[in-house]
Amino acid sequence: MTSKNVILVTGGEGLVGSAIKFVLDNGETRTEEEWVFTSSKECDLTKLTDTNKLFEKVKPTHVIHLAAKIGGLYGNLENSLQYFRTNIIINDNVLAVSHNFGVKKVVSCLSTCIFPDRVSYPIDEKMIHDGPPHDSNFGYSYAKRMIDVLNKCYNKTYGDIFTSVVPTNVFGPHDNFNVENGHVLGGLIHKAFCAKRDNTDFVVWGTGSPLRQFLYSRDLARLMIWVLRSYEEIEPIIISVNVEDEISIKEAAEIVVKAIGFKGNVIYDTNKLDGQFRKTASNRKLKTYLPNLKFTQFEDAIKETVDWYMKHFEEARK
Ligand code: NAP
Ligand code: GDP
Repeated sequence: MTSKNVILVTGGEGLVGSAIKFVLDNGETRTEEEWVFTSSKECDLTKLTDTNKLFEKVKPTHVIHLAAKIGGLYGNLENSLQYFRTNIIINDNVLAVSHNFGVKKVVSCLSTCIFPDRVSYPIDEKMIHDGPPHDSNFGYSYAKRMIDVLNKCYNKTYGDIFTSVVPTNVFGPHDNFNVENGHVLGGLIHKAFCAKRDNTDFVVWGTGSPLRQFLYSRDLARLMIWVLRSYEEIEPIIISVNVEDEISIKEAAEIVVKAIGFKGNVIYDTNKLDGQFRKTASNRKLKTYLPNLKFTQFEDAIKETVDWYMKHFEEARK
């Protein structure tokens, strides 16, 4: 019999799951912990029987729940119903089975795009349910908000320690670099890489004016490990860079251009949507817990991501 904590990471081969693996492999492992990363190939979490079998096999004491149907602006717009239904089912299965197996703690992932569209800035953790989300991610957002509802119900009913983090826009190695259904930085890196290789224009969608707080996946990974080990609240916690580190899509595109070494024309395609203008989030609560917290410089994180992408071009999602 082992007395180790067994931590099951759902969605373990995605952007955030891979970053957690990287951070653990680079100095964060502890002898009293065994980490198990699972993917949709091993277990389809929309199926309750399969989810039960996975938990029976792994016997987790803790869960980091990342698995989700997720997309960027256009992925969300075009799959609202599918993202709502699939994510509701996955989340209900994972939390119900975690409860039935006596899991001591579950940390799930919300997102700052799920906050009300009409809200005062900066957004904080208390505002999640204060009004409808932006139209562009309606289904995804409501499904994510229900995780917070489930966490509170499980805690009230059974005392379960099920909590959540709320990251801003994440990017890094192992991102989905697909232009149609991925997020902006993955899409921009892929497009700038192809524009340099093919000697064509680099096309950025929209006006370039929307604002985002970009979060490096490896910074998020470190903080999710901290949440798992040390954060005791059921209430969500926003994981975000500082408000003053918010940048425009145009500024982000210029940094990608530099990292790729693209010298050609940059075009803004205003036939494409801008989506939500901003979702500026406060990291005040996080900083209260971790006053000395530092994030990787955006330019450095983009460079590492671009280097990873170039090295793994063949097998990267795109
Ligand atoms: P990702 O790279 O797409 O990873 C998600 C993983 O979930 C994928 O590996 C996927 O596996 C798996 N998955 C999907 N459906 C599944 C199913 N039915 N059964 C089992 N696994 C399934 O996404 P990510 O960016 O790492 O996101 C991780 C978490 O962070 C998500 O909960 C997301 O909502 C949240 N988040 C992400 C961002 C962001 O900007 N990326 C921002 C805020 C919050 P397959 O690919 O094999 O289907
Ligand atoms: P959001 O942050 O949830 O809105 O989703 P995204 O990560 O997809 O970012 C969308 C913003 O980036 C919008 O303002 C888009 O117009 C802009 N954008 C510019 N180029 C791209 C691109 O190649 N892919 C994506 N997904 N968005 C882009």
